[in-house]
Amino acid sequence: MKTKAVLLATIALTMTACTTSRRDLASYEPGSDAACFDRASEPYTMVVDAHFHPKPFGGPAVPIDEVQGYLDRTGVRFVVYFGIGQVLEVNETCTYYLDCPGITALPSIKNDFANALEYDNFRDTRESMPANTLLSMTFMDLANPDDIVDTIALYDREYPGMFRWAGELNVIKQALLGNSHEPATIESIDGWSGFMEVLKERDIPVTLHSDLGNNDNPTEFVPLMQHVLKSYPDNKIVWAHMGLSKELTNMDPAQHIAIMREALDMAPNLMLDISWRVLYDTYFVNPRYAEMYTEFLNEYSDRILTGTDFVASRNKTFQVYKEEIDVVSRIHQGLSDEAFRNIALGQGFFDFVGLDYAAPQVCSG
Ligand SMILES: [Zn+2]
Repeated sequence: MKTKAVLLATIALTMTACTTSRRDLASYEPGSDAACFDRASEPYTMVVDAHFHPKPFGGPAVPIDEVQGYLDRTGVRFVVYFGIGQVLEVNETCTYYLDCPGITALPSIKNDFANALEYDNFRDTRESMPANTLLSMTFMDLANPDDIVDTIALYDREYPGMFRWAGELNVIKQALLGNSHEPATIESIDGWSGFMEVLKERDIPVTLHSDLGNNDNPTEFVPLMQHVLKSYPDNKIVWAHMGLSKELTNMDPAQHIAIMREALDMAPNLMLDISWRVLYDTYFVNPRYAEMYTEFLNEYSDRILTGTDFVASRNKTFQVYKEEIDVVSRIHQGLSDEAFRNIALGQGFFDFVGLDYAAPQVCSG
């Protein structure tokens, strides 16, 4: 039986948990005396947004202090800043490629440099950062890889040591085929060896967007990613959106999970990215499917990365980001405590990247 003192202490602890529901970055430092994580009173939303685009495909972007404010207000403490692998042609008024078929969208260094310059300036004006930010190189054209190593050398001269991720790079992205996107081929994948070696030496992960297929042929492009995984087994590779997309909305989840499982078992350095609300809207929203995916995520919880795939074009507001964070994180609610810590609280991300941070333990009972 609980004494009055114990009851009061319990209430006090619960109140602390409520008031600290948005934990700060310092609480993830190893050795911090952060309280255990109370799933009943603290948010189920992601702490790591490992798939975030601070610049749009074209047109005006959300200013950086506002973008970093979005992270701060939603409790996101770790973010991977992707460029846009395909910037729309200069002088076009489009902000989203699907609205402008025929307008060329090609890989470019523009976005990466804009992110690095802006982030560097922002950091200089702040005493502490709301989120640990990792910059990513997104210029690589996977269908034409010959000059990638030289361009990395250019990045080294301009921003030494600043880029610690690569991607999101497009192996095959069907949504962009109307904008002159050239998919990678088995031959061009064989030509990646130079830059994949550089990434491996530097321990830089690469996020690849590689559609599994489409509603006519759900597994049409699976051999491309299989070839990547077989060819570069020692590279840290992240498969964006688990290969799903708006073009593939009718896949049998059992078949999808089987393909993911086979890839994870074959490639020990592979991680799956469960970002993008399309995954929720087309699969996780179905309770029977959610149950299947939850079971799969529980089993492979140290191989999963969270993210929104938010694109910060100026026509968006904080409400949009907040909603994406919530929708994409709903699948966390059914996870086991161990999987919740790995996925929602970021422990799997810290281990994968080798970051010196630790997720809080989940309170028992
Ligand atoms: Zn993306």
